[in-house]
Amino acid sequence: MKKFIEVKNLTMSYDREAVLRDVSFSLNDGEWLSIVGENGSGKSTLLKGIAGLLPLKGGSVGFGDGLTRKGIGYLPQQTAIQRDFPACVHEVVLSGCTGGARLLGMRSRSDRQRAHDAIHELGIEHIHHKPYCDLSGGQQQRALLARALCATEKLLILDEPVTGLDPLVSAELYESISKLNKTNGIAVIMVSHDISGAVKYSDKILHIGRGVEFFGTTEEYLSSDLGKHFAGKQEA
Ligand code: ADP
Repeated sequence: MKKFIEVKNLTMSYDREAVLRDVSFSLNDGEWLSIVGENGSGKSTLLKGIAGLLPLKGGSVGFGDGLTRKGIGYLPQQTAIQRDFPACVHEVVLSGCTGGARLLGMRSRSDRQRAHDAIHELGIEHIHHKPYCDLSGGQQQRALLARALCATEKLLILDEPVTGLDPLVSAELYESISKLNKTNGIAVIMVSHDISGAVKYSDKILHIGRGVEFFGTTEEYLSSDLGKHFAGKQEA
């Protein structure tokens, strides 16, 4: 296993006050990291810092093993506006292809092949022509996951992928993500409020509260006082 993400002393803020302070952790090739913590603790902000969507105030995010920021697949939290997006599923997925050159606005053959493969991987061939806004919540997340997959062969960053989905649909989505992780070797960094899903699938847990409160393996987290308290609180 090679180390391919190293976050060192990261600090981020929206104005003067720091939202995240002195965050350090690392991830090896092919691992699944879940980031947990209370609302407002800075989880989404951290994802955006890693993906390069927001600037850092201090510290660094280093990539190894050929990973670059352009090669990250990012699944953002869904907003109501995105849910009403008028394009069809195929167009939404294709918009995730970030690399290929375009000729007169047309997508390259390799981009179209990539979108086709991602649609196949997520099992949404039968709805690829449907308007995105007509899909169920679970189908929309599958389409957005396929879109994120178009951008990467190495790392998926997922912000609350199962929020709003019922338990059965959540379990199916987790299984698809797990297959991408275990079979295709794609590392995952996931923010989730769903602690039971996080501990079931993750190799490592980062618990933040505007700084690092815990970082280690899932087993270590579950036997820590913080892990016992947080996991128990969510299941109660
Ligand atoms: P989490 O994902 O853990 O719920 P966030 O990273 O979304 O937390 O937010 C961390 C803190 O930063 C919160 O206090 C939130 O209100 C604040 N915040 C988030 N986004 C913005 C923004 N665009 N502008 C100003 N403050 C923000």
